[in-house]
Amino acid sequence: MEIRIRGLTRDYFSEGKRIRALDNVDLTIPANRIFTLLGPSGCGKTTLLRCIVGLETPDAGEIAIGDEIVWSTEKGIFVPPEKRGLGMVFQTYAIWPHMTVFENVAFPLKCRNMPMEEIRIRVARFLEFVQLDGFENRPATKLSGGQQQRVALARALVAEPKVILFDEPLSNLDAKLREETRKELRRFLAGLNITAVYVTHDRVEALALSDLIAIMRAGRIVEVGDPKQIYFRSGDRFVADFIGRANLIKGKVAALEGSHAVIETDVGAIVGLNPRGIEPGTEAMLCVRPEFIRTEATGVAGGRNLFRGKIETLLFIGEAYEGEIRIGDTLVTTTISPTVDVVEGGDIFLSFDTDHCFLLPA
Ligand code: ATP
Repeated sequence: MEIRIRGLTRDYFSEGKRIRALDNVDLTIPANRIFTLLGPSGCGKTTLLRCIVGLETPDAGEIAIGDEIVWSTEKGIFVPPEKRGLGMVFQTYAIWPHMTVFENVAFPLKCRNMPMEEIRIRVARFLEFVQLDGFENRPATKLSGGQQQRVALARALVAEPKVILFDEPLSNLDAKLREETRKELRRFLAGLNITAVYVTHDRVEALALSDLIAIMRAGRIVEVGDPKQIYFRSGDRFVADFIGRANLIKGKVAALEGSHAVIETDVGAIVGLNPRGIEPGTEAMLCVRPEFIRTEATGVAGGRNLFRGKIETLLFIGEAYEGEIRIGDTLVTTTISPTVDVVEGGDIFLSFDTDHCFLLPA
């Protein structure tokens, strides 16, 4: 089901000050996709999610789920949470401590008076999905935090709601399990025909899991796009910087070359993609991500976008070095293969991949 949000505003008051948690948010969340709200702590992600669920009262605006308006300040409509047909997985576990794992997951189905035999089959399927088969009779309190979170996930999915909302559901799992679970979650949600709204501040999680990502900042939606659009073609400096490591180099567009443009910077003339069609003579910013900078000891290959710099700092992080390279007044962060012979203070050549660096408005 599609979710449409128009003009949504929510203020909090704390110590005599007004905090605008949501600032006139317009957003359409398409049906049957995994849609992530991503942004730094305090940007309003949870507030927006709670407004959709009905746990929060907006000050202005309208929310429709499918054909039904579930909140409208103007029309005085409020559909209570339990009538919105949603499933929710919270950051805190919110499972029932007096019940076993089986009873927790079976609860939404029992409320619907589903026959016991069918309940058993469904609960078993979802417990297997969250890797908790064999834990059916364990009291919920005798589980680790991560296991409790997986019970919450199974309980939300078992009722097969049309929309499921996740508020940082993996943040309490250890790194390995988190990676596995997000892979499984993506595969599973894709097969469920369900609209999933997912809140996280973890950019890798957002990129790996989502069909679409909305980046939020200070109560507003800054940009919406699929992971590759956001990563490679963002039109916003904050987004480009937030979604991945980024070197942002200021300059002025000198010429257009089809889908590319030449930008004059302190580093030199750099060719990059120009997805926003920024015109020559305009101040702009070039975004080049460390993973799309090739490093060479000699620079013999030549060609465009090749620059000589000095290694200012070098940090060995296992699979690579993280280097800061000075080219004139500009410091460029890059990764350098441990197989390249490099030392701090030494010279190095950097080559920017013309198809993976891009211009964005200054
Ligand atoms: P996080 O990633 O840290 O959970 P978030 O993006 O989900 O952050 P929200 O929890 O939606 O952000 O909070 C948005 C803003 O509203 C923040 O500035 C927060 O401090 C404020 N806020 C949230 N709840 C309340 C409340 N009950 N009373 C006062 N201020 C609140």
